[in-house]
Amino acid sequence: MKKIQMVDLKGQYADIKSVVNDSIQEVIENTTFINGPKVHEFQKNLETYLGIKHVIPCANGTDALQIAMMGLGLKPGDEVITADFTFAATVEVIALLNLTPVLVDVDPDTFNIDIEAVKKAITPKTKAIVPVHLFGQCANMEALMALAKAHDIYIIEDNAQGIGAKYTNSKGEKAMSGTIGHVASTSFFPSKNLGCYGDGGAIFTNDDDLAHKLRGIVNHGMYERYHHDVVGVNSRLDSIQAAVLDAKLPHLDHYNNARRSAARKYNKAFTNHPKITTPKTVNGCEGICDTCDCHVFHQYTLKIEHSNRDALAKHLNEKEIPCGVYYPIPLHKQKAYIDSRYQEAHFKVTNQLVQEVISLPMHTELDDEQIEFITKTVIDFVDKK
Ligand SMILES: *Cc1c(COP(=O)(O)O)cnc(C)c1O
Repeated sequence: MKKIQMVDLKGQYADIKSVVNDSIQEVIENTTFINGPKVHEFQKNLETYLGIKHVIPCANGTDALQIAMMGLGLKPGDEVITADFTFAATVEVIALLNLTPVLVDVDPDTFNIDIEAVKKAITPKTKAIVPVHLFGQCANMEALMALAKAHDIYIIEDNAQGIGAKYTNSKGEKAMSGTIGHVASTSFFPSKNLGCYGDGGAIFTNDDDLAHKLRGIVNHGMYERYHHDVVGVNSRLDSIQAAVLDAKLPHLDHYNNARRSAARKYNKAFTNHPKITTPKTVNGCEGICDTCDCHVFHQYTLKIEHSNRDALAKHLNEKEIPCGVYYPIPLHKQKAYIDSRYQEAHFKVTNQLVQEVISLPMHTELDDEQIEFITKTVIDFVDKK
């Protein structure tokens, strides 16, 4: 059996080596390292893939969030609601811009922002909500867009983990993740579903005026060379990373299907096990059906009773099966983001999830033998407990 990796970037590269190498080589030969034609090509191709009017490439997914908030003109003191159970980048940029982060609990089944908790957190100062499409499944965008409309609030989708996922609303209409809110951000960090070979990110929007603002902000606030109209940042996707991404984009659906296929096999093995809770998908198919396109499984995350979770993680590592706990500490308990307004009673779900979640190896190169070994090792261990 091949050694199991949490993320197998080497195996993925082996398959597309000549295309990626040629694409990178072209940039080096042209010496168009910054804002070269590859960046523009990738931008256009991603716009077509997503069916969105504007993709604004930038340096990473964290910058993408920050620039989106700058572009929307959010001001110090404005409240921005986001999920307590996610990577810190989301709350970090809110705090950096002197906006007021308002963390709320998540749904225990989907791990995504809890709509009832959002409703309770809305005040006259609320200017934006940042749903994170955690682990590759969209948050409840229909409910969020309705709240946004009723309260005149912006929705910024943090799509770093969800690229390629489809969202289906209650009428059965589908839309790509990252194309539903007023603006969205994504990350091309190497381990993301569409990853480059360094740092990269992008912002998406259908709003022409906002797109224009964002294009200036990413480039020192310049709309005309050496004319700085607004305070901006230096956040560009470099051409070599764009070359990698442009070579990989045509494979994204195939990559996401490979992840779904692995998730289905995991689900099948764990189905109805009394001590293992498999990830829930909201479209009712439980992620097992062959046509499911709602979840892109950035992570495959189980819930295991707290008393066993850490022991299982240790056991898997002993068997050379990598695993991860995303995330081990709720954001409201992180030193940088502690706030006396938060009450523990409002974070019941996140406080429990941090004790129960465990993510198994998930990537595009997992084979059946590896999946069988992983599922058997997990089941044998929890059965003995
Ligand atoms: C990875 C990630 C980010 C940050 O992306 P970077 O490119 O690493 O800056 C932001 N939000 C979420 C949910 C992420 O998973």
